[in-house]
Amino acid sequence: MTAVQPSPKHQKSKALKPGSRPPAKELCSECGLCDTYYIHYVKEACAFLNQQIATLEESAHGLSRNLDNPDEVYFGVHQQMMAARKQDPIPGAQWTGIVSTIACEMLDRGLVEGVVCVQNTPEDRFGPMPILARTKEEILAAKVNKPTLSPNLSVLEQVEKSGMKRLLVIGVGCQIQALRAVQKEMGLEKLYVLGTPCVDNVSREGLQKFLETTSKSPETVVHYEFMQDFRIHFKHEDGSIEKVPFFGLNTKELKDVFAPSCLSCFDYVNSLADLVVGYMGAPYGWQWIVVRNQTGQEMLDLVTEQLETQPVMSRGDRRAAVQQSIPAYEKGVTLPMWAAKLMGVAIERIGPKGLEYARFSIDSHFTRNYLYVKRNYPEKLEAHVPEFAKQIVSQYQLPES
Ligand code: FAD
Ligand code: SF4
Repeated sequence: MTAVQPSPKHQKSKALKPGSRPPAKELCSECGLCDTYYIHYVKEACAFLNQQIATLEESAHGLSRNLDNPDEVYFGVHQQMMAARKQDPIPGAQWTGIVSTIACEMLDRGLVEGVVCVQNTPEDRFGPMPILARTKEEILAAKVNKPTLSPNLSVLEQVEKSGMKRLLVIGVGCQIQALRAVQKEMGLEKLYVLGTPCVDNVSREGLQKFLETTSKSPETVVHYEFMQDFRIHFKHEDGSIEKVPFFGLNTKELKDVFAPSCLSCFDYVNSLADLVVGYMGAPYGWQWIVVRNQTGQEMLDLVTEQLETQPVMSRGDRRAAVQQSIPAYEKGVTLPMWAAKLMGVAIERIGPKGLEYARFSIDSHFTRNYLYVKRNYPEKLEAHVPEFAKQIVSQYQLPES
């Protein structure tokens, strides 16, 4: 690959200086776009300045989600969904490593020349360090979530300068919205997008506060996940697993821990990726796959023989639990640990499962976020909240103010 000059309009544009206030101000999710000359497009591209999911769905998938189809309202445009896990999981991956495996296969088989992903900094296992990976080793070194805001798009300038024409980007919803908006300016022959769902992300300082408030041994946590059994599972350096029930979280202390961007986000399911790999619509222990278009199917086909799969299922009724959680969150109710554990056991037995668990999580976060935007950015509410999210929120009774 020969190094190439960026296009003239990009040569004129300059990345934001470190420490400057970003265009989206406190709503900035640090997606990385403004760390590049693509800041030129920020007014149109930023997910927090110009919510345009329906328009971008049309350009990415050929159609926007059908608001008369309940599954599309919740999970976005898709051709199929399934539960899957790797027969031979990658040790140290967030789940079984489906994301890293797809990226490695794409590079191996020459479908792409590079992969945008995020490793950690040498001094901090949770400190994000986005890279443009060109080898399988570099992709594998990016496995596992960095549960913090991560400027994945900050490496986009390197793509154009390197002369790469076929690229895979791995990222969360806000990063992918900005990417889709500038995709046509990148001079690529083919862009593949592999997304994960994302919710409740935090700054690095916010993460520290979360770990210190919630785990018994914050300094040894190597990995954590909000699991489908209504508990947070912290994995520690020695391999032990600490489980903390959601209902025992110190809501009052943690209310201000989430980034304002994430409290204003309605793209939990990464609507614009070709293929989404998460866990919340799958039974406990399995990953959840959403194939949005033919490109996504092509990506999944590369690894199908390495996977065990089963159809998605849905059980239970989330609605009463979501409605009850709204005033509880508002009041910052924290149960004593014994009661939280009991509640966790009960809800695990009778609570929502599979896709209904995913709906439970989407409803709880969208109602909370709708109230957050209404209270803090009332002038943005109408345009910023997508139609599908308004439909979801309208099922619940929210406090007037
Ligand atoms: P791995 O093979 O371990 O690969 C993980 C990939 O994620 C790597 O390629 C890495 O580049 C990328 N990555 C890591 N951190 C970030 C980051 N901060 N920003 C962008 N990319 C990153 N799934 C759900 O179903 N529900 C959720 O609520 C949910 N919340 C999430 C919150 C965050 C912040 C993240 C990053 C992911 C979340 N996911 C959620 C996705 C889920 O946790 C797994 O990442 C996904 O199932 C893939 O697992 P894996 O073993 O295949 O990934
Ligand atoms: Fe720029 Fe991304 Fe922040 Fe928006 S969210 S201001 S595009 S860095």
